[in-house]
Amino acid sequence: MRKKRSSQSRLKKDVLEKSLCTGCGACVGLCPYQAVYKDRTVQLFDCDLPDGKCRAFCPRTPSDLPLLRESLFDASDATDEIGPVKEYWLTRAKDEGLRSRAQHGGTVTALLGLAMSEGWIDAAIVSGRLDGREPEGLLIDRAEELADYAQSRFWAAPTVAAFHRAPESGAGRLGIVATPCQAIALAKIRTAKIDGYRKGGSLSLVIGLFCGWTLALDRFQNLLEKYQLSASALTGMDIPAGKNVLELRTAGGSANVPMDEVDSCVREACRCCVDSTAEFADLSVGAARFGANPEEMRGWNQVIVRSGAGQKLVSLARQRGVLEFREAPPPALVELKNAAAEKKKKALVRIIAKSRSPKNLLYLNPDDPVVRKYLK
Ligand SMILES: Cc1cc2nc3c(=O)[nH]c(=O)nc-3n(C[C@H](O)[C@H](O)[C@H](O)COP(=O)(O)OP(=O)(O)OC[C@H]3O[C@@H](n4cnc5c(N)ncnc54)[C@H](O)[C@@H]3O)c2cc1C
Ligand code: SF4
Ligand code: SF4
Repeated sequence: MRKKRSSQSRLKKDVLEKSLCTGCGACVGLCPYQAVYKDRTVQLFDCDLPDGKCRAFCPRTPSDLPLLRESLFDASDATDEIGPVKEYWLTRAKDEGLRSRAQHGGTVTALLGLAMSEGWIDAAIVSGRLDGREPEGLLIDRAEELADYAQSRFWAAPTVAAFHRAPESGAGRLGIVATPCQAIALAKIRTAKIDGYRKGGSLSLVIGLFCGWTLALDRFQNLLEKYQLSASALTGMDIPAGKNVLELRTAGGSANVPMDEVDSCVREACRCCVDSTAEFADLSVGAARFGANPEEMRGWNQVIVRSGAGQKLVSLARQRGVLEFREAPPPALVELKNAAAEKKKKALVRIIAKSRSPKNLLYLNPDDPVVRKYLK
């Protein structure tokens, strides 16, 4: 009988060698064989296990996305463009001090802090700071420290690896901030039926981030050099509404890098990504940017509430006055859905260019009705 290929070698051939790896960290921290170097996943030693969790949890191996949707969400909330929607709001943190340290409205940090102070989670996994360290996921168990890790780092942080390592710290129920690809890995972990693997049950809350792309760290560092900057000097980064630039902030000022230069640093895997709103999270948060005057919404977030747990948390945030709410103007959701549909269509074109066959969508299933809709 032919020996079954190892999960690790299949991950190498189907994900790493095809430049589909998003750097999410889901295959790292489960064993000594897989590791992260900067924003790259490396295989240190060979493993011959045919059914390893590394391949099972990877968001870029074939997944039964319809089954994940069915397991985690109410079918009546489904939308094709942005996944399940129970509620859609504009929000920001009530705490002005937090808002001044956050990326947009501080909704993510405020909600994590609330979940922790209510005892819904014992600790949160967030991404490390912009102070020259390697991208990393960190486990934070004091609500007052969460704001130190606010803001967006536009490169891949292997936060799912920090989830795998969390039991070592004794933390019980966990919340995690996740990009869309990480939210898919976490959905696979949550629904995994693998003998001896029960850790998915400790995952109480997934707060998703909207995501357009991440930057490949080595190329981004070269770009920074051109602007006489270093990653360790960065204090923040953003794409200001209505401007086609990436703003890089340092203690001494800021530099605006034109988006066509930034585009050359985008991670290859992100060009094949169909999810822009973290469709598999309990709730998803992004910038509020739409309408004729996007500046009007500066400092606010768009929030999509997806699961019962997400709904409970957002409703508590309203009761406790942790978040301020605004009704979203009707065109907002339409704009968001249109942008999300565009990302799906573009990614599918790129996936087919990579596989050279419309029948082979690499990690996606051509029979998934959502995929089929955008396969034109
Ligand atoms: C790579 C990336 C791309 C994004 N692209 C878009 C986009 O195209 N459109 C859009 O509307 N919004 C995008 N966002 C989301 C946006 O930048 C904000 O994170 C979101 O609006 C929440 O704002 P906030 O003020 O509530 O966040 P904050 O309260 O400041 O909290 C941000 C949280 O994100 C975590 N975080 C930061 N960087 C990462 C990372 N690389 N990986 C995982 N977690 C991280 C932090 O640890 C913190 O917990 C992106 C975010 C990231 C990280
Ligand atoms: S996408 Fe995530 S799980 Fe898959 S190989 Fe890359 S880091 Fe590992
Ligand atoms: S664009 Fe997609 S693949 Fe890239 S970091 Fe965002 S969610 Fe992950």
